[in-house]
Amino acid sequence: MRLQDKVALITGAGSGIGREAALLFSKEGAKVVVADVNDAGGNETVELVKAAGGEAIYVHADVSKAAEAEAMIAAAETTFGKLNILFNNAGISHANDDDAINTEEDVWDLTFAINVRGVFLGCKYGIPAILRAGGGSIINTASFVAVLGAATPQLAYTSSKGAVLSMTRELSSIHARQGIRVNALCPGPLHTELLMKYLNTEERRQRRLVHIPMGRFGEAKEIANAALFLASDESSFVTGSTFLVDGGITSAYTTPL
Ligand code: NAD
Repeated sequence: MRLQDKVALITGAGSGIGREAALLFSKEGAKVVVADVNDAGGNETVELVKAAGGEAIYVHADVSKAAEAEAMIAAAETTFGKLNILFNNAGISHANDDDAINTEEDVWDLTFAINVRGVFLGCKYGIPAILRAGGGSIINTASFVAVLGAATPQLAYTSSKGAVLSMTRELSSIHARQGIRVNALCPGPLHTELLMKYLNTEERRQRRLVHIPMGRFGEAKEIANAALFLASDESSFVTGSTFLVDGGITSAYTTPL
């Protein structure tokens, strides 16, 4: 098993990528702390892990709030004795996120509070715990939009994911010699609630698909597999990376007809 005796905390594990990662990490031997604001989704993830024979607990944590971020890290150490893997995965894409002219300040602030401050707070409290465990792996979910500009704008979201990339690079440099690896996982467009809510017409979906060489959306499971690689010792020489798992969208100038 690839995560035998490891303890992993996954934020946003009540659905999508986070839930798939919780199931996969557990299958590979990790004990999992499921953190989310969606209590029903988070508890369901825990039940799914347990039904598959794994160990998990649910912690209600809004990652944008310092006290809740601190408490979720404490829960990992209290319940499972340590923290080896921190997957800062929770994120939002606001329905009213648009271009500079049309995006309201409150949309900008909320997006940054969750997508950027949430990752910062996870690291602020998670890094000391990982150091106490003798090192480990941090994975921050960014997005392919952090490296590409789109004419269908989500300015706050795109900017927030850019911040996750630069934060990840700096953290990886600071902590490299302390045995902590920090990587940014950049999913391409996925067939999950978060994106389908936004690409809610066939026309919008096709407009995105035309740019993906593979001609399809990715699945949350495919991102969880990449997260497993970054979480495990198989990626022992990988840190500070912009780890793209995107069906080729960021490499393509044109796509096959
Ligand atoms: P999702 O909406 O299925 O899951 C996100 C989870 O985060 C939800 O369970 C939600 O309740 C939780 N969450 C939201 N705000 C929170 C908060 N303040 N504190 C704690 N939890 C919170 O979406 P997903 O597609 O699984 O997204 C996971 C990550 O992947 C996000 O960071 C997202 O930006 C990123 N991503 C998604 C796509 C895509 O196409 N779906 C592409 C690139 C990147």
